[in-house]
Amino acid sequence: MAVRTKLVAGNWKMNGLREDGAALARRVIAVRRSSPTCELLVCPPATLLATVGGALAGSGIALGGQDCHAAPKGAYTGDISAEMLADAGCSHVILGHSERRHGHNESDAMVREKIIGAWRAGLIAILCVGETQSQRQAGRATDVVSTQLAGSIPDGATSDNLIVAYEPVWAIGTGLTATLEDIAAMHASVRTSIPVGARILYGGSVNPQNAAGILGLGDVNGALVGGASLDADSFWTIACCCAEPAA
Ligand code: PEP
Repeated sequence: MAVRTKLVAGNWKMNGLREDGAALARRVIAVRRSSPTCELLVCPPATLLATVGGALAGSGIALGGQDCHAAPKGAYTGDISAEMLADAGCSHVILGHSERRHGHNESDAMVREKIIGAWRAGLIAILCVGETQSQRQAGRATDVVSTQLAGSIPDGATSDNLIVAYEPVWAIGTGLTATLEDIAAMHASVRTSIPVGARILYGGSVNPQNAAGILGLGDVNGALVGGASLDADSFWTIACCCAEPAA
């Protein structure tokens, strides 16, 4: 199996006005003190795609969306299609993030349709899965994630068009992280349900202090970073923890 380069992706969520977005993108470029040993991706809010895409042009840092509608166009007020993201310069789109699943009632079936839409537009889908705290406490974490994977991944998934992000819901934005043992066990389980060679990112309060341990695990092929990606130095420090290519 080909060795995959790790990916560190920043999910800026609903943060930043144009001036902030451009400044953060420029700072991400400026803090790189060497060639990164991983791929870098930033996913700003939709209003900043053009600004951030412009600031990142030629940097090798990829641009991604945070969600898309399943349809290519139409009467869907407030939504954005995968084609629109691609047109804005995106190569990736985050889908099924827990803030979408829980805040917008997105089901596995809806996420699946969105992934089909992303592929239609030529985007790489970053599929987020993860259990809630009560599901983990009930010993159901692995079953929950397996069910999400089975329900969300369409036929036609490959290691080139799909990346999975394991993000325990209780770890997102809370400062809590799963233990290294739990991360390793979940990633090994996810590995059995996805195409050979597909990357599995870990997400959930990844920061400069815990990144080396997490990114050093054999089945962790990168990180999806929320809060810490809003600070360019922290984002770069996390990226620097990807010293070795993913196995
Ligand atoms: C996320 O939004 O995907 C995320 C992991 O956020 P945070 O790093 O802030 O927990």
